[in-house]
Parts: sequence; C-alpha cells; structure tokens
Amino acid sequence: MLRLHDTATGAVRPFEPRDAGRVAMYVCGPTVYDVPHLGHGRFVLVFDVLRRYLEWSGYEVRYVSNITDVDDNIIQRANAEGRSESEVALQYEAVWYEATDALGVRRPDVDPHATAYVEHMVGLVEQLVERGCAYETGDGVYLSVESVPGYGLLARQSLDSLQSGARVEVDDEKRSPVDFALWKKVKPGEPSWPSPWGPGRPGWHTECVVMALDLLGDGFDIHGGGQDLAFPHHENERAQAVAMGRSFARHWVHNGWVMVGGEKMSKSLGNFTSLVDLLERVDGRAYRLLVLRSHYRSPLEVTPDTTADASSALERLDNLVRRAAAEALPRAAPDVGALDRFRTAMDDDLDTPAALAVLFDAVRQANSALDAGDPAGAAPLVATVRELAEAMGLVLGGDDEAVDPDTAALVAARDEARAGRDWAAADAARDELVARGWVVEDTPAGTRVRRRRN
Ligand SMILES: [Zn+2]
Repeated sequence: MLRLHDTATGAVRPFEPRDAGRVAMYVCGPTVYDVPHLGHGRFVLVFDVLRRYLEWSGYEVRYVSNITDVDDNIIQRANAEGRSESEVALQYEAVWYEATDALGVRRPDVDPHATAYVEHMVGLVEQLVERGCAYETGDGVYLSVESVPGYGLLARQSLDSLQSGARVEVDDEKRSPVDFALWKKVKPGEPSWPSPWGPGRPGWHTECVVMALDLLGDGFDIHGGGQDLAFPHHENERAQAVAMGRSFARHWVHNGWVMVGGEKMSKSLGNFTSLVDLLERVDGRAYRLLVLRSHYRSPLEVTPDTTADASSALERLDNLVRRAAAEALPRAAPDVGALDRFRTAMDDDLDTPAALAVLFDAVRQANSALDAGDPAGAAPLVATVRELAEAMGLVLGGDDEAVDPDTAALVAARDEARAGRDWAAADAARDELVARGWVVEDTPAGTRVRRRRN
C-alpha cells in the first residue's frame, strides 16, 4: 500500500482515496508571465511521476493543473511591453507546454484557466461574505482568518504565532494582518470583471480553491505543489473551503527546493536558471533522472556535475536498450522480484532513489548476462528495465529515435548553416525540425534531435 507524506499531519501515512480505484489530484500550475525555471521543472516531474506510479499501480487518475492567466506580474509585463494581458499569458503558456513536453511530462487531463472561472469565484466570495467569514474594505474583500477553525495547519503554526510574526501595514483596513484578499478592486490599467463590490479581479488563493472543487469535487484526494506553496497559498485555499463547511484535499503533497551551489535557487539570489536554457543543453530525460535521484522532499542540487552524471546514467539505459535490440532477445516478462522491490520503494513515500537502484541493478545484471552470451537470461532483465523506466516516465532510446532522411537532411543543413554563421538559416532549419515533432539540442558534436514525447 502506498504511503505518502502529508503536510497537514507532518507525517508519512497511508494513502486512502475517496473512491476505490480512483484518484483525483490537483497540482498548482504556473502563472504564465515568464519562462519556467528549474524549480518548475522539478515540480512537474515529481507530480508526473506520482501520477504515472498511481496508474502503474492500477488507479484511474484524474489530473487537474491550472494556468493562472491573470496576476500582478502578467499585468506588469503587459503594461511594460504595451501588449494585452492575454497576449502575454498565451505566449508564456506556449513556452510552458513546450518545456514540459520536452521533459516528457504528460499534459493534465484538465488545465483550467483562471479567467474562465471568475464568475464562480465571485459566487464563492459572495457566499463567504454572507456567512460572515469575509468582509469588504476600500481595496477588496478579505477572508477573516479568525473565522476559520484551525487556521495555520499547513504552516504548522498556530494563528497566534502567525499573527505575531505578520507585518502590519500602515492604513491597513484588515482585521488581522494574516487576513488575505479574495477579491481585488480594480486599479487603473488593470483588467477587471464585474462583482457586487464593483469591478475587480479574484485573488490567487480563490482561483485554485474554486477550480479544484469544481473539477474534482469535495474531499478530492491529493493537492500538490512546491513546498513554498504550502503556506500561505495552500493554507488559504483550504481556509476558504473550511469557512464554507466543505471538505477539501485529503492528502497534501509538497516537493522540496532546487539548490544551486548549496543555496536555494531564486530570482533574488541571481542563481536562477531557466528550464528552457537547461533543455537546450541537456536531454529532458536526463533532468527527469536527476530529479528522481533525490527524494522528492529533499533539496535537489543542480550543478554541471550532477547534470553530467544524470546524462551518463541515461546513456547507460539507452545503450542497454540498443544493445538488446541489436541482439534480438527472446520475448520475456519482467522479473517479478525486481517489480516487487520497485513497488516497495515507491510505496514508501515515493522513494525514487531506491527505485532507481532496482532499475540500475537490472541494467548491470542484463549487461553481465549479455557479456556472458546468455540472451535467455538477459531477456527478463531487459524487460524489467523497460517496464520500470516506463513506470517512471522514461522513454528509452533505440525505440523511437530513428531519423528519416528528410530529418537527417535538415539536421545537416542546420549544422552547415551554423558552421557558416548563417543564423537565420540555422533557425529556420530548427523551426522546421520542431514543427515536425523533434526536440532539437546543440551538442559539441553538432545538432542532435529526438522525438518529442507527451
Ligand atoms: Zn494554486
């Protein structure tokens, strides 16, 4: 049985779905105003692996992840660039999906856009006001956290300690410094929607609670995101559901930071690496392997060394699959003992480092069997490698990397253009390759392509 850490209890506990055999999960998606960074890449991979593992275990999974397409940052960028908010949002949503596709992350079953749910959000805020849990001020409508029993659960702090630590702003009409905006009244130059409190827009925490409950129903199974979202974002989503008397997520799953040189990666520290930049240098599958090498709740160190290490581990996997294909091994079922060890590791709060150890054990044994000229012994081990890799979302080389002559000609044309510093022609060849469904990488040996996978 799967056991998962639950931020609400601070402990690893059995995962018990609302409906037998089915899992409803909501993972907070991106605010689309900039290119994604390595932390985004980590969270989409962690929850992609959880989703795939649940499916591998026999569950039917409904996976919802939102797109926040209205927010201060989007408005700022639109104003600075003289464009509309929706143009900015659409551009960066396209960048988002291109990057997550390159990581082999399956797209959500539903990706609700906040702007499509504003009426529902107004409805929720109205009900919260009617229940006496929310109040209007000069600049918006706020939730009164004192009306929510147990506020602070996901911060693992009491309301008293949160209040004493909160910054009190001058001229603040809020009843408590911890109260948060459900609705923001319009300011000049901002997009707005009608409401009983005049034109304005929803607060971020109201977006996710409305979309999660609408699409997954009360008491859905898993709410996930990066650990920086646990408080205040997730706690504030939860508080609105509690104030409405509705049951919310049964299990809260949060992944850890990305670290660069021992420090948390963040824009303010200037050690911020974009996922798009990484994917130009590194196979998306290698980043998946790197993410899997750390437990999802531990910090993840991304350095040239750890990335190179993951790339060479990926090569070992690809090489085995190619070698097996060349030797035309007999068909075989995966090794049952290895599958059991894999399941035990993953059931233990998604212990992917231990799961990878099972996978690479099978790689070593398969290579030894092939070295010893024992194809019958190698076959079930290779089948195990394929099965476990697929369960974790790794498509191994040799299966789908065949490059047709047209593609090979485009690759050659691109390398020639680059050698001649004809960047326009190089870009045109790249665009054509991307349009044909290839991921294009620049390596010291020239252009490399591989099939894009969803
Ligand atoms: Zn959210």
